[in-house]
Amino acid sequence: MMKQYDALVVGAGYAGAVTARRLAEDGGKQVLVLERRPHVAGNACDGPDGAGVLIHFYGPHIFHTNDKRVFDYLSRFTKWRRYQHKVIANLPRDNPEVVPPRKSTDGRFFFPVPFNLDSLKNAFGEQEGARLGQKLLDAYPAQSQVTILELRQNPDPEIAAIADYVYEHVFVHYTMKQWGQTPEEIDPSTTARVPVRLSRDGRYFQDAYQGMPLDGYTPMFERMLDHPNITVELGVDALGRLGLADGVIKLDGAPFNGPVIYTGQADELFGFRFGPLPYRTLDFGYETLPQDFFQSHGTVNYTVDGDFTRITEFKHLTGQEMPGVTTIMREYSRAYTGKAGEIPYYAIINPENNALYAKYAELAAQYPGLHLLGRLAEYKYYNMDAIAARALELTDKML
Ligand code: FAD
Ligand code: UDP
Repeated sequence: MMKQYDALVVGAGYAGAVTARRLAEDGGKQVLVLERRPHVAGNACDGPDGAGVLIHFYGPHIFHTNDKRVFDYLSRFTKWRRYQHKVIANLPRDNPEVVPPRKSTDGRFFFPVPFNLDSLKNAFGEQEGARLGQKLLDAYPAQSQVTILELRQNPDPEIAAIADYVYEHVFVHYTMKQWGQTPEEIDPSTTARVPVRLSRDGRYFQDAYQGMPLDGYTPMFERMLDHPNITVELGVDALGRLGLADGVIKLDGAPFNGPVIYTGQADELFGFRFGPLPYRTLDFGYETLPQDFFQSHGTVNYTVDGDFTRITEFKHLTGQEMPGVTTIMREYSRAYTGKAGEIPYYAIINPENNALYAKYAELAAQYPGLHLLGRLAEYKYYNMDAIAARALELTDKML
């Protein structure tokens, strides 16, 4: 006889795995997880490459959160390697008059990103940078950071000049590469993720809890999903098993009355009936090199030139000790077309797309047991911790 399930979870990323574990463990429910890919962990999936270097298959993932509950929950399934991500920008030197302290041999120069008081010195020289830094501190006495769009509104000519510099050297070209649009054209919350720091804090994130799962993300997910009440089927497209019509959900042809937590694309769930939701996708260029390290930092952003946005070197993130070999990855962004094999990595948040999403959400609301949860299903720019938090909140309500 076929096993009876109380709950169905579509997708085994953060949204799916946290939900499944809670319903199984705290709710005592028999949970079926269907995952289209041949592995768990969604876009956080990692594993060894051909050379044995631990890499991330869907872009660099660094865990950071201020949410103690999320951190404690995930900590049940992993130990952590303490890691604070630091990023530098790698740019062509455009001002030969200024010899930045961190100089390179090939006419390029570097500064910390988010742009901070040290970046100012790297860009403008020690003395002038220090003077401009004080000017910024005086202009924003009560703030520890300011967004580039906010900074650009400042009427003071010298601050406007700093804003122009940062805009040109950090934001406009990178954002054009990443989104095909300028910082003004994209949702302001996106560039606000990387503010201008009114301090010398050179960390990419300032959250209270930061780190990398000690043995990687995939083992953390395997442990989370390892529960007698959870059945995971990999390589299974749920859309081939699910039926949604007239307010009734069917699983394998029979009405399914338990909750369905769907973490895939909302447009796809409903056959794209109002048209596809726009996304950006990425191509990853991996390269394994016969050397200990390629670059000084986990990630180096190419904020001005190059056709890729950034290079990540995984050994910095993971702390893996492997002399004589390293793997780096370049990220190339482009429009998602929906072709087989493409992955919709980033929702393109704007009023028009949000309105289109709302139509799908409205349709989903006609199915009382159906919950859209996750970065794809909610069409939002969520970090890992935000999704884990939403999964905990949703299951609080369900239990
Ligand atoms: P996903 O991880 O996308 O999981 C959804 C799963 O559902 C997928 O495995 C998919 O295969 C499956 N699925 C979809 N449709 C179906 C179907 N029909 N049938 C069966 N299965 C289906 N966050 C951070 O906090 N820190 C970072 O450093 C960070 N870096 C990132 C870098 C990049 C390049 C990207 C794109 C994202 C990054 N994120 C980062 C965000 C992070 O990836 C997401 O927050 C997280 O993966 C969202 O989890 P999820 O479960 O919502 O979605
Ligand atoms: N950004 C930028 N230059 C940088 C870093 C970020 O212009 O050096 C902008 C860009 O628009 C990017 C956004 O800030 O899409 C958010 O950056 P983040 O690093 O958070 O992006 P993610 O890691 O999610 O791709």
